[in-house]
Amino acid sequence: MSALLRPSTVDEVVDLLARNPEARLISGGATLVAMMNARLAAPEVLVSLAGVEELHGIRTLRGGGLRIGAFTRHRETATSSLLHGPLAVLPAAASRIANATVRNMGTIGGSIAFADPGLDYPPALVAANAEIEIASKTGRRRVAASDFFVDWYTTALVEGEVVTAVELPPPGDGDGVYLKHARVSGDYATASVAISVRFENQRRSLRVAVGACGPKPLFLDEVNALLSVRDDAGAIAQAGELLQSIADPIDDVRGSAAYRLALIPRLLGAALGEALGRTGMAHV
Ligand SMILES: Cc1cc2nc3c(=O)[nH]c(=O)nc-3n(C[C@H](O)[C@H](O)[C@H](O)COP(=O)(O)OP(=O)(O)OC[C@H]3O[C@@H](n4cnc5c(N)ncnc54)[C@H](O)[C@@H]3O)c2cc1C
Repeated sequence: MSALLRPSTVDEVVDLLARNPEARLISGGATLVAMMNARLAAPEVLVSLAGVEELHGIRTLRGGGLRIGAFTRHRETATSSLLHGPLAVLPAAASRIANATVRNMGTIGGSIAFADPGLDYPPALVAANAEIEIASKTGRRRVAASDFFVDWYTTALVEGEVVTAVELPPPGDGDGVYLKHARVSGDYATASVAISVRFENQRRSLRVAVGACGPKPLFLDEVNALLSVRDDAGAIAQAGELLQSIADPIDDVRGSAAYRLALIPRLLGAALGEALGRTGMAHV
């Protein structure tokens, strides 16, 4: 039997983690409870984040950026009207997570802390240029989403730290698209592509990230620069090859490594077409 501690502030959470190094945080419990039921985890102490008011909900910050509290459930992110324009990539990804039951239960903080490479949020957060806010006894720090995901099931989090929020730049003009290829609706991704396209002063800038084709989202400045100015078939093929060259896909029940590699340019072309078609900002 695990002891369940119920702090109500972030300060209390990080105090409890510092005093109980063996404690495990629990948010929605979608993954952790399944692991406990399967006897893959048996934490003696659980620190629940459910009662920490600060971690709940999505709000606009002074300056126009957005803050998604770590305990915000996938359903709220999937349906938020605040996440529009280039940030629409996030509700698009959240709405493709599993099924309604998991979306009602799971939270953005729990999802990214677990960092399964097949998750839907990581590529969407990298494409949206998000920052992850992390708290510990020594204060708060922020890490770019592109640096937060480090390796298979490994993030920039260290012992005693808790994800408190995801922060996003002001929405602005543009669009966000998330395309997920899965064996069946509700399954984890075999491969996915997230695109966030932003228009400022008649110029378009684009960020692309690929999910489920390596230990962390694939992301290259060179690809973003290329697709910001070109969207012809040659540019898509070139961008696809660049992303394939940094991929490290595995063979598993969701698809072979070769199949995952082949999906990258196809999903990229389709996602780009969707984003630019909807906004009328294609160059060709
Ligand atoms: C059947 C099923 C299908 C799924 N399908 C998909 C899918 O298609 N796509 C997808 O993206 N996801 C999928 N998931 C994962 C789902 O999105 C979970 O919500 C997510 O993995 C964990 O979120 P949670 O809030 O439930 O975290 P929990 O289960 O509570 O915690 C998960 C881990 O994160 C740690 N943790 C929790 N919160 C924090 C925090 N704030 N800071 C630091 N560490 C923290 C916990 O200690 C634990 O190790 C699926 C899950 C299940 C059970």
